[in-house]
Order: sequence, then C-alpha cells, then structure tokens
Amino acid sequence: QAYLDAIESANPSLNAYVAVTPEQATEMAKASDEKLAKGEGGALEGIPLGIKDLFATKGAHTQAASHILDGFKPEYESSVTANLWRDGAVMLGKLNMDEFAMGSSNETSYYGPVVSPFRAQGSNANLVPGGSSGGSAAAVAAWLCAGATATDTGGSIRQPAAFTGTVGIKPTYGRCSRWGIVAFASSLDQAGPIARTVEDAAILMTSMAGYDPKDSTSVDLPVPDFAAAVERGVKGLTIGVPREYRMDGMPEEIEALWKQGLEWLKAEGASVKDISLPHTKYALPAYYIVAPAEASSNLARYDGVKYGLRVSGKDITDMYELTRAAGFGREVKRRIMIGTYVLSAGYYDAYYVRAQKVRTLIKRDFETAFNDGVDAILTPATPSAAFGVGDEDMNADPVKMYLNDVFTVTVNMAGLPGIAVPAGKDGKGLPLGLQLIGKPFDEETLFAASRVIE
Ligand code: GLN
Repeated sequence: QAYLDAIESANPSLNAYVAVTPEQATEMAKASDEKLAKGEGGALEGIPLGIKDLFATKGAHTQAASHILDGFKPEYESSVTANLWRDGAVMLGKLNMDEFAMGSSNETSYYGPVVSPFRAQGSNANLVPGGSSGGSAAAVAAWLCAGATATDTGGSIRQPAAFTGTVGIKPTYGRCSRWGIVAFASSLDQAGPIARTVEDAAILMTSMAGYDPKDSTSVDLPVPDFAAAVERGVKGLTIGVPREYRMDGMPEEIEALWKQGLEWLKAEGASVKDISLPHTKYALPAYYIVAPAEASSNLARYDGVKYGLRVSGKDITDMYELTRAAGFGREVKRRIMIGTYVLSAGYYDAYYVRAQKVRTLIKRDFETAFNDGVDAILTPATPSAAFGVGDEDMNADPVKMYLNDVFTVTVNMAGLPGIAVPAGKDGKGLPLGLQLIGKPFDEETLFAASRVIE
C-alpha cells in the first residue's frame, strides 16, 4: 500500500508507470501475507516490483509503450515475470519505456517522456532518466517499487541505471528466457533487473534467470545463487582496462571516476591490466545495422489484424499502411526503414553481412582479453551524466543520441554480461556509473566486483 500511495503522489510528475494494477497488487500481497504467516513463501515473497511494458503480463496492459498495441492485454505471461511471481513477488504495474525499446532517453514513448527524480544543482530543469528502461530506472530511484524488470538490447538497462544512481545488470545472452518479451532485436535482447543495490539486483537476477524450453536461445545451465557471490571480494582478480574506451572529449570527471573505480578494486586485492579491444569503434555503426534489421523483421507482425490498433482503409493493403502510419512513432519508423534497406537485395551483403562479420571481430576482441587472464573489464557506463528532457542537440541528431550507447553496445554484440553500478556524482551532483563486463555466464564475478564499487 505504501508503494501504491507513493506511485499515486509521484507518478503524475515522473510518468514512470503507464499502468498501475492496484487490484492485482493487493491480491498478490494478501496471498504473500498468508504464506508468510504460515512460515512459507519464496525468495521474493511480498516484494513489490514494477514491470517494464515490454514484458507480457497476462490480462494486463502490455504495449511496449507504442500506440500500435493499443488495448493489447496478452493471454499469457512472459517466462521472466512468471519466475518472479513463482518466487512470491507482487506486481505494482507496467513501466514506461522508449517505444519498442528504441531510444536512450525514454522520449520516444507514446506515453510521453519519463522525468528523472534527479535535478542538477542550481537548476530545476527536467532531466531524462535514460532509456529505453527509463520508467524502470526512475521508479526504482524514486522508491516507486522495490525493484524492476528491464531489458537491454544495446544498453537499455545499464545506461538508465547509470543516469539514476541505480544498479542494472544485463546478463549473458541466453541467461533469461525471451519468451513473452516483445521482440526488438532478437539476437541482442536480454532481460535483467534494475535495483537499488548490487545485492537486490543479485536476488532478482537469481529469480529471473533460467532455462526455458519455450526460448530456443535460452541456455540450459544451472542458475547460481547470485546473492551468495556478492560478498566474494575481488582478491586475485585481474581487471582489464580497454584503451579504446578512452574517448576524445570524454568529460574529465568520468575519466577520474574510472581511475577511482580501479583504485577501489586494487585496494581490495585486484590487479589491473591495460588491454586492447581494437574493433570497439565499429561496434556502434554495426549495431545500428544489426538492430534495425532484426527490428524491421520483428515489427512486420503489427499489421492491424492480430493485435492492437486498426485504422480501416479501402482494402487490406490500405488498412495495413494506415495502421502502421498511425501506430508507429518517428524513431520506430526510422529503424524499420533502415532495417528494410540493409536487408534488401543488393544491399544485404554490403551492410548486413558485413555488420555480422564485424560483430564476430568484436566478440573475438573480448575472447582474446579473457584468454589473456582478464577476469572482468572496467569501463565508464556512459559518456556523460543525464541530459535534459527535450535536449535540442540530442533530439535534432539521432547519431548524437545513439552515442549514449558507445560503451554498452559492444557487450550486446558479443553476448556478454555487463553491470552498471553507481560510482559517484558529477560536478552538479548527478549520478555517474561504471560498467563491469564479464566472461560468458560469469555474472557472479560482476556482482562481487561491483559490490566493491557501489
Ligand atoms: N539505445 C539503443 C537503441 O536505441 C539501445 C536500446 C536498448 O537497449 N533497448 O537501440
């Protein structure tokens, strides 16, 4: 009830939730109370969570923050949310996001931008919480839920976590089932939690993860008790520092924070090693070919017939066109056009196949570093702190907006786990995060190392 009250008072200004489900929350909480009274219950019994609008939740609002899914209430539950309910968690509602998870500022949502609970010192201007999981990050930071689900295709868990002083982990590709998560770019999408502490994130991750026969890319490996790894420490670990992440024009406070993070790890017994990931500079351009290509294919299903919005036309083709014209926002249309172009005959080899080859090279860069004895890699999470809602520079030039993900997309391209952990503040008091990148299926090391930094 305290969370529902907090949502009622703060959500009109933050716009973090697109739907609140008080009846469901109360019913689930009562069931938890009964279990707890009997000394029963799961690891998350009675813990109230917010769910990103990308996850199918049975009978509840599920629209990927798009107009084209108007009124869609799925008949089924996503595997990740089903795992959370199995362990006793309680659903508070659905969280705002960039439309179909395409964006880095939560400004492409059909429901309007999410406003960060943070303000720069001496200013009252609204800041973005990052994106695409902006609602998840803002809701956690503002205590509108105890934790949240999120998804990350190119940085959408880690960048908003960094902007809001929260912890967000994208696990290894295949760790969580994608079944029942609205698809953006299927070879890159992964679910993960956003939480207030590393320990909370580890507890949520343990529950969300797991093999699922309904997703052929989910991996049949046992799920460790991630919370047990949190206090493991970093003694004897080797932390890689990739020289290519030292970007021109990077604010000095981010460079300083990165150094500080390394000092903290060294003080706890880790050693630091300079490494090279030479294909880093191709990651962003290759991502913006692969992700739109997959998106254009995945979004073909929204045709006005199967779900959501339908705008009638004189014949079926007309209906398709009118529905898609009215239902998708600008950024989604841009991605569909880029994706269709790079997949079309004559351009496929020059763009799509080439981007896939670059992707392999990026993956090999990381493999080389890990084979050379590196246990985890430390980088900044983002090239800047949060920017303003409606920032003219960012919104006028999509490439500027895409640069927000320069440190995070490599991780999705390589399928690796990555965590963003709050590490300090900029000169105006805004949160800054660091990122740790791990070996495949070694999220435990990331939890242990980020605990030293938080
Ligand atoms: N900002 C990136 C994009 O717009 C990543 C989004 C995501 O991770 N879902 O594609």
